[in-house]
Amino acid sequence: MAVSDHVDLPTFMEGVNKRNPHQPEFVQAVQEVAEDIFSFIEDKEEYHAQQILRRIAEPDRVVSFRVCWEDDNGNVRVQRGWRVQNNNAIGPYKGGLRFHPSVNESVLKFLAFEQTFKNALTGLPMGGGKGGSNFNPKGKSVREIMRFCQSFMTELYRHIGADVDVPAGDIGVGAREIGFMFGQYKRITGHFTGVLTGKGLEYGGSLIRPEATGYGAVYFLANMLRERGQDLQGKTVVVSGSGNVATHAAEKVVQLGGKVVTLSDSGGFIHDPDGITLEKIQWVKQHKTHRRGRIEDYVAEYTGATYHEGKTPWGVPCDVALPCATQNELLGEDAKLLVKNGCIAVSEGANMPTDLAGVHVFKAARILYAPGKAANAGGVAVSGLEMSQNSERRAWKESELQQMLLDIMEGIHNSCLTYGRQPDGHIDYVKGANIAGFKKVADAMLAFGVV
Ligand code: GLU
Repeated sequence: MAVSDHVDLPTFMEGVNKRNPHQPEFVQAVQEVAEDIFSFIEDKEEYHAQQILRRIAEPDRVVSFRVCWEDDNGNVRVQRGWRVQNNNAIGPYKGGLRFHPSVNESVLKFLAFEQTFKNALTGLPMGGGKGGSNFNPKGKSVREIMRFCQSFMTELYRHIGADVDVPAGDIGVGAREIGFMFGQYKRITGHFTGVLTGKGLEYGGSLIRPEATGYGAVYFLANMLRERGQDLQGKTVVVSGSGNVATHAAEKVVQLGGKVVTLSDSGGFIHDPDGITLEKIQWVKQHKTHRRGRIEDYVAEYTGATYHEGKTPWGVPCDVALPCATQNELLGEDAKLLVKNGCIAVSEGANMPTDLAGVHVFKAARILYAPGKAANAGGVAVSGLEMSQNSERRAWKESELQQMLLDIMEGIHNSCLTYGRQPDGHIDYVKGANIAGFKKVADAMLAFGVV
């Protein structure tokens, strides 16, 4: 008789812990998923016998490499680069590249694991991957960034391909970095293919890709509110972050009638009780991305706003919170404070911004809580549409893409309803997203046998 994988959750997690020492973010992401999957597969023998969860929680491969580059003073600099290819059961590996000093193997493994479920939820044929480097773009000249991107791609190119693995942007990697990397890929291989997404419109990029993650997170929020017979009109919204995701999420909230009162960066947050209007958001976009400024400069520009150094915005009373900065930016205590102050909905624009304690607080309080793998899937979804357009060698119209993004976010919401509805009618979106994402990948893996 075959040895079955009928271990309980603590024993399973003990094994994950043991096999991944000093990788707390990865273990946290697996734990969050395993909590729901264990109850789902309880009576499903095949998933046990085939060790499906164990296999999804073991990346197909982790490629690690040295990246050397020269700074503007002629000093040789050495960084580490990675590509984590987690699972390609339902399509080529797909996921962003992050350039940030906090990047390490644990962070990229958690992101690649999450990406596997997120990509499955979009309904598009994409597996899960993630990559990046501990390179810090802050304070670097454009020429230094170009040299770093070229050096990074000089190794990465051999591991990726339009039908193999399609990276994109993430924190520290935007259209400019994608341009440098695509240029280097093309230079090395001579191939003009859809090997990266988030490209410029002139060379195969897709309309609405920059807006898609933030807009999608707000569309998901609107779907959750609609389920309760509500909308965003007049709601006070606290947003963290001030990058691509945060500013586009804020923009969509304002367009749908909500009032955004905070934005933040690694230095602190600004609180603008008058509301951060579309014009003010435009200023933030210019200031943060083009001038590479700090969010604290907002208070000199707009009177009535205050800056709170070294703090996160979760203590500001609100109806809705949108964490759009980075992992573990919202802790258990913050979650309690939000709930106490009357917050009714949280939609995660960032990946795993809420720590495990916070997730448990939101679940217990039975508020509308959308985990990143569901709420922020709009970005990678439009990346998937960019891949389709590249394969077709044509570009779709903005109105078509807008509609597709709306439909995809509604589809993800429906999947969450299917698997997350509790006996009393409450929707557990974490459970819904975890099970829906898992089931698609798991069923494909069952079809392949033991590989
Ligand atoms: N980095 C984004 C994410 O976390 C987008 C990935 C992509 O477009 O491939 O989903």
